[in-house]
Amino acid sequence: MTHFEPPDATVAPRYTGVRTFARLPHVELPRDDVDAAVVGVPFDTATSFRSGARFGPEAIRSASMLLRPYHPVLDVDVFGTLSLVDGGDLNVTPGNALRTTEQIDEQLRPLITAGIVPLVLGGDHSIVLGELRAQHAVHGSVALVLLDAHADTWDQYYGERYFHGTPFRRAVEEGLLDPARSVLAGMRGPLYGPEDIDVPRELGFEVIPGPDLMAMTPDQYGERVRRRAGDGPVYLSFDIDVLDPAAAPGTGTPEVAGLQPREALGFLRALAGMSFTGFDVVEVAPAYDSPGQITALNAAAVAYDLFALLAVARARARRP
Ligand code: MN
Ligand code: MN
Repeated sequence: MTHFEPPDATVAPRYTGVRTFARLPHVELPRDDVDAAVVGVPFDTATSFRSGARFGPEAIRSASMLLRPYHPVLDVDVFGTLSLVDGGDLNVTPGNALRTTEQIDEQLRPLITAGIVPLVLGGDHSIVLGELRAQHAVHGSVALVLLDAHADTWDQYYGERYFHGTPFRRAVEEGLLDPARSVLAGMRGPLYGPEDIDVPRELGFEVIPGPDLMAMTPDQYGERVRRRAGDGPVYLSFDIDVLDPAAAPGTGTPEVAGLQPREALGFLRALAGMSFTGFDVVEVAPAYDSPGQITALNAAAVAYDLFALLAVARARARRP
C-alpha cells in the first residue's frame, strides 16, 4: 500500500514540479490505496453569462501549490491522514452538456465504487448532475449541502434543460438527492419576481438566503445542516460565486454582497466529521480573475478545507 501525499517541501520547493493539486502525485485511478482524489472537469458550455470555467481546474491547481499538510483550526494533518492524489481531468464534450453529464457519471463511478471520495474542480455547475448520478449509483440518495449565490433549480434556459442553472432540479427529478435532508445556503441577488424565492423550497429543499446566512454563526449553520442531513451520505457542492466578487471576481455570474472567504471557511469548518461522500468547487473562470488570481487562490483554500473535513472524520474513525 502506498501512502500518497505531496513531496517534502524542504527538499523540493513548492513552486517546482508539474502542476497538480497541492503538488499531489498524478495517479491513474481507481486503485485501493487512495482515500480521496482531485478530479478536474473542464467543461463550461452550459453557462448563461460569462464562459471560461473550462480553465478552472488548471487555475486552481496552480494556486494550490502553497498548501501545507497541517490544518491548525481543525487540528488535523490533512496529507498525513488521507492518502490523496490528483486523478487528472475527465473527458468532456464541449457544447454538449447532457453527453458530458453521462461521461462524468461513467468516469467517476469506478472511483466511488473503489471507496475514493472525489473532489471535483469545475467547470460550470451543470457538471454536478453527472457527479450526483455517480454518487447515487454507489451510495443511493444523498443529502446536498450547497453553498452558492444561486439555487440552480430552474427548469430550463432558452429551452435547454441541461444547463448550469438547472442541475439540482434535474437531480431531484432523477431521485439522486433527498431534498428533505438538504440545505441550500447563500442565495442572493435580484430575481425575476417574488415567486422565484419559493422555487427551490417547492422542490423540498431548505433554503438559507445569503443575508440570513451572513447573520448566522458557524455553529448555528453547522447545527442546522447536521440536524437536517443526519448521519446518511452527504454531498457538498461549493459554487465560488457564493463568495463576494471582491474575493472571487473570476466567475461566470457574479453577485455583489457575498461571503468573505473567512466566513465561508468558518461555515465549512462547522461541518467537520460529517459523512461526506463527495465534493466539488465549481464556476472558477480564470479569465475574469484579478492579476493576483484571488479567485483561484480562494478555490484552492476551499478545496483544502473540504479535504480537512474528510480528514477529521477519518481520523475519528481510526481512533481506538
Ligand atoms: Mn451554481
Ligand atoms: Mn452560482
